Amino acid sequence: MSTPLGLEENELIACVSCGLCLPHCPTYQVTQDESRSPRGRISLMRGVESGSLAITKEVIDSMDTCVQCMGCETACPSSVQYGSLIERTREVLINERKLNIRLRIGLWMLLRMKLLMIGSRLLALIQRSYLLPNKLLPISSRIPLSGERYRQDEDPEVIFFTGCIMDAWLPKIHKAGLSVLEALGVKYVVSGSAVGCCGALHNHAGLRSTAKEQATKVMTKLPPDLPILVDSAGCGAALKEYKELLKTEEAKEFSSRVYDIHEWLVKDQRWEELSSNEKKTSEKVIVQDPCHLRHVQGVHNSVRELLDPFVECIELDDEGLCCGAGGAFSLNQPEMSSEIRDLKLQSINRAGGHTVVSANPGCMIHLETSGVEVMHPIQVVEKLIYRSKTDD
Ligand code: SF4
Ligand code: SF4
Repeated sequence: MSTPLGLEENELIACVSCGLCLPHCPTYQVTQDESRSPRGRISLMRGVESGSLAITKEVIDSMDTCVQCMGCETACPSSVQYGSLIERTREVLINERKLNIRLRIGLWMLLRMKLLMIGSRLLALIQRSYLLPNKLLPISSRIPLSGERYRQDEDPEVIFFTGCIMDAWLPKIHKAGLSVLEALGVKYVVSGSAVGCCGALHNHAGLRSTAKEQATKVMTKLPPDLPILVDSAGCGAALKEYKELLKTEEAKEFSSRVYDIHEWLVKDQRWEELSSNEKKTSEKVIVQDPCHLRHVQGVHNSVRELLDPFVECIELDDEGLCCGAGGAFSLNQPEMSSEIRDLKLQSINRAGGHTVVSANPGCMIHLETSGVEVMHPIQVVEKLIYRSKTDD
């Protein structure tokens, strides 16, 4: 018999209500409200599935305010698959939920690369004309006035995934990643605007059928067999999760070829040789782990491994608590998103006044908006590699 949310009972009763996930849940941390915690959300799902609870506004708000950071999933000793539960719940509730108009337009634009590029150029002009105050703009760092052209090598060894919004707004990070590959002699092709968006934000917003269509498009358009390198933790997580999204053998094979760029580099012999000749500088950086790198992909330590030959990595004291960006969360829940960011800023302040490194464009933009100096780790690596080459 089908249930309102279509969840399995054994998935729900896996939660033993121990509460060990609560300190790792950013929405519980800022509200101290049980309905804003993983335990509370699972309990509401259980109520709906058993028929004892209707799908009320309270239930929808509880599900809507989840950042989907997966901090609870990695903290849970009972291996509750919270990510799968909340994704499917939000998909079922999509018609009841309120996706704000900015988010709806944004998600629509991400699937139309030409329009996204035109819109981004307009935004770049507005930024330079000072027609709007900075706080009304979605990004504080400068969007480039023209699109980026990338090299495409013959006989590539890897595919470099460029995505959508990152390609339009932050191509300087892609350029840094490609420069590091070039320094190692790695031949590459980039996915480019013909492939475009991975569908991560659509899945995050509960638009699973759009995310599935996009996943199929990406898989069809990218060349087969080659490793796929990604410099956005959110996109990397989404591409690695195509196997769960589509549940096909092709998707499983595709996902097995996806690597976060830091994860791939630290395993490469050429990187080992290059970095072993480096001298450590006196520079220090604060490492902020994007949730999609730490809790979803579990490869956050490769950022430290990559940076360690060059700079001192300073740790935050919040055990990887989310920064509040959360894919589309900052657009749909702006107040809670900025309350969560305040917790992160307190942790950054306690770590000292150093540059923050974050391997996810969403986290970078979210933190930069509050005045923090943020770089992508691959930008730090590129800067230091080329500085030491110039010094030689
Ligand atoms: S989700 Fe896991 S950690 Fe959280 S209350 Fe349930 S069993 Fe405990
Ligand atoms: S995914 Fe994040 S915000 Fe959602 S319940 Fe888990 S810890 Fe809380």
